[in-house]
Amino acid sequence: MEDLLSRISTLLKQERDLFGETLLYEHRSTPEKSMSPAKQPPSDEPSLFEDPGTARKSLTREPWGQAATLGEMNAQVCTCMKCPLGQTRTKFVFGVGSPAATLMLIGEAPGADEDAQGEPFVGRAGQLLNKILEAIHFKREEVYICNILKCRPPGNRKPASEEVEQCLPYLGKQIELIKPRMILCLGLTAAENLLGTTESLSNLRGRVLQYQGIPLMVTYHPAALLRNPNWKRPTWEDVQAMRKLHDELGQKELRRA
Ligand code: URA
Repeated sequence: MEDLLSRISTLLKQERDLFGETLLYEHRSTPEKSMSPAKQPPSDEPSLFEDPGTARKSLTREPWGQAATLGEMNAQVCTCMKCPLGQTRTKFVFGVGSPAATLMLIGEAPGADEDAQGEPFVGRAGQLLNKILEAIHFKREEVYICNILKCRPPGNRKPASEEVEQCLPYLGKQIELIKPRMILCLGLTAAENLLGTTESLSNLRGRVLQYQGIPLMVTYHPAALLRNPNWKRPTWEDVQAMRKLHDELGQKELRRA
């Protein structure tokens, strides 16, 4: 009983941290978006997950394509000058977290704080991302966090297609090395570039998609949540669903082993 009470108290505290006091008592007049039966995480093999686009595999003849570890790869690519962002960046933002992560979180591109520190999601959006992770019982160090672009676009503008074209193979190789059980795309830029889709964020949320056979879900970008706190609730639902599927897939892996 005490255990249950302490769990409820932790959950309420996390909700308050994420949503603030008022949203705890929010009245909703419109039905919530939930996972429709057709969109439920399938209980079958990952190959049954939706594939809405034409995900590209990272094929390269460049030396980093042969890297056996993330560290080795980073050392080979961190001086990249393939696009003009190489000239304007302060630091190359490769990615952070565990090379054995079961969950990869992918954002858009470094902002000013990330450019200064060389680590993704360390600014205000990063603080919120840390809280979101905490709420679903992940430590920042146990997941892997990176972006579609490794260098900051000046003024935080959207990544240009030539920049994405040059940079995306790096992400493909990172995914190949980490082999996460699941990917969570933070925002539409991550989803559309990784999946090769032009669908809207509202169409992509609540579905289990896939990148190279890896189950992938999409939610709001934490920076968008800072601008629009009403999206925190749906994000909470997305990450809960993601955590549930992540754990179910883990159970399956155990049974197979
Ligand atoms: N926004 C992103 O998409 N990535 C970061 O690393 C920081 C902010």
